[in-house]
Amino acid sequence: QAKLKGSGKDPYPDWKAGAPVPYAALCTTFSLVEMTRKRLEITDHCSLFLRQVLRLTPADFLPTVQLMINKLAADYAGIELGIGESLIMKAIGECTGRSLAVIKADQREIGDLGLVAAKSRSNQPTMFKPKPLTVRGVHEGLLGIAKVQGHGSQDKKISGIKKLLAAADADTVGKGVDITENKGGPSEAKFIVRFLEGKLRLGLAEKTVLVAVSRAVQTHEAESAGNKIPSAEQMVEGENIFKTVYSELPAYEVIIPAVLEHGLLKLPEVCKLSPGIPIKPMLAKPTKSITEVLDRFEGKEFTCEYKYDGERAQIHFVSPDSIHQYPGALDTLQKDSKGLSSIFSRNSEDLSKKYPDVLGKLDTWVKPDVKSFVLDCETVAWDVEAKKVLPFQQLMTRKRKDVKAEDVKVKVCVYAFDLLFFNGEPCVKKSLRERRELMHECFQPVEGEFQFAQYGNSNVLDEIQELLEASVKASCEGLMVKMLDTAESGYEPSKRSRNWLKVKKDYLAGVGDSLDLVVLGAYYGRGKRTSVYGAFLLAAYNPSSDTYETICNIGTGFSEVLLEELHQTLVPLVIDRPKPFYTHSTVPKDQPDVWFEPRLVWEVKTADLTLSPRYQAAADEFQGTTDAGKGVSLRFPRYIKSRDDKKPDEATTTRAVAEMYRKQEAVTKDTTSKGGVD
Ligand code: ATP
Repeated sequence: QAKLKGSGKDPYPDWKAGAPVPYAALCTTFSLVEMTRKRLEITDHCSLFLRQVLRLTPADFLPTVQLMINKLAADYAGIELGIGESLIMKAIGECTGRSLAVIKADQREIGDLGLVAAKSRSNQPTMFKPKPLTVRGVHEGLLGIAKVQGHGSQDKKISGIKKLLAAADADTVGKGVDITENKGGPSEAKFIVRFLEGKLRLGLAEKTVLVAVSRAVQTHEAESAGNKIPSAEQMVEGENIFKTVYSELPAYEVIIPAVLEHGLLKLPEVCKLSPGIPIKPMLAKPTKSITEVLDRFEGKEFTCEYKYDGERAQIHFVSPDSIHQYPGALDTLQKDSKGLSSIFSRNSEDLSKKYPDVLGKLDTWVKPDVKSFVLDCETVAWDVEAKKVLPFQQLMTRKRKDVKAEDVKVKVCVYAFDLLFFNGEPCVKKSLRERRELMHECFQPVEGEFQFAQYGNSNVLDEIQELLEASVKASCEGLMVKMLDTAESGYEPSKRSRNWLKVKKDYLAGVGDSLDLVVLGAYYGRGKRTSVYGAFLLAAYNPSSDTYETICNIGTGFSEVLLEELHQTLVPLVIDRPKPFYTHSTVPKDQPDVWFEPRLVWEVKTADLTLSPRYQAAADEFQGTTDAGKGVSLRFPRYIKSRDDKKPDEATTTRAVAEMYRKQEAVTKDTTSKGGVD
């Protein structure tokens, strides 16, 4: 596997036991992955390589995995590269002596900055042979680039990138080898650049890497113990252990050292949900009506909670006298005389600097003897005078960073709806009824500061309808309906589960859920809007091909002030031409005036969905039908809000879009055949 295609020799003679993993070896694996779309083959390539790393250089296992998943650290560490095209082009130019104009022309022609870098590199003979890159070296180099801040940071980032590029492809430089098309081996420059851009574009999903890691570990453990290679069933068991552990503790920084020290079977004992490391939140499935909820939960006990319209907040706390129980991994928590605490977003981003007022009061919400907890909550803007919740928009006016508790203007009330960890033990496996009882027993509400989510346990349609109306009167978005008893009601981290259903007030008319879409392009405004963008091109995300597929143009729902702001935010994201992973109509009149890097995610509502050749969302789902070539598109889309808590690859998927379209079609057909809705 480590050998380059076609050559009989060991391409990495220096990679001996204990020696650093050559970055070129990782890039060879990337190239093999790039050449196939088959999930099993991709997993095999990765796990074989990871096995080799475990055999020879286990100390480099962690950075290797991190480079594979295109992340330098776990999400909560807040380390992001996200470097724009223009900065990278500048670095490539300065590093290779090619002019910016030539690089831009190449980019226009090739459309992949990674390949442009590879091409620039392979043409450059150098006087001194640079030292080959190592996985650890590249990881450290990229981390350095990500951490640069403040004055002169752009120049420092460029110099960091140049350093890496200068050493890239040490073995092929100046030999006239064409590495742009995988002909003469992989290109390190290509993958470095793609990493900097935030996407390796190999079709290598994080879940696949997780499976590959678990297989490599299992096989290596068996080999080292002189045992037989695990059977297929044992492999799957091992994968399940790994997946469960990772969903409760999504941090390779913690799991990998633990698995190397204790072995896979011990992992669930030593790596548990723990304060300081945010768990990936459980998510809900959308539903179209209360009757759909009743169908799903027929014969089961369930509960309807108010769905508060604020920001998801996972609150972690450890009391001063319990800190010694949680060694390591607690750097993420803020320390003061009351103990350790932090608030994490839906995206595992640390929100502690946004909510010092909340953190300052945690100790007043708990009854005596509470030593540690993780609560799943929603923070909602609170009207102190009228003593009621305020709309989401108010919450958005709060500053995000360096907030001082005494300066906070928009007060928030925290509504707790789940307890995930309590006094040293995870409680995710308990039923929701048990978790809720424990939460109500051990915490005490404080008006305007901390409340339990309002709920009613009913399975009668009329009563649920009443609860829904009451929730709307209380400024909520609708209901969250949750399985209450049985094993199915356990907390399922990171899963969009059928055991949690959301019923939004506006479902009852129009399309079920709103969509979260990525901004790919814009059109210059006319009339009053001439100095700003007047409309935008949006797309859904297709995780299987890693592409953004266009779905609509949107120009409704924006105030003049917002358009000004959006213009300022979007101008720095302008790129010369659409990225190769954007899928849109090729008809000239359908093209936007400008294209952007895929960064912003907006929540959008629509009247209904239709098929159109102009957009390409989920078009592959209609291939071979009379609608071939058409994608799903939104009719009368309206901007609701920006989803700063979602990354572009967390946007609504094209599969979900196709599902929405089909559901709508089924309903239309159903109601027409019955002669209308009653
Ligand atoms: P999703 O989180 O399902 O991707 P989303 O982020 O667009 O969707 P919604 O569809 O509005 O959010 O619904 C889920 C969100 O509702 C949760 O992530 C949480 O922030 C919020 N929420 C409010 N009240 C509750 C509650 N009682 N139980 C669970 N979540 C709640």
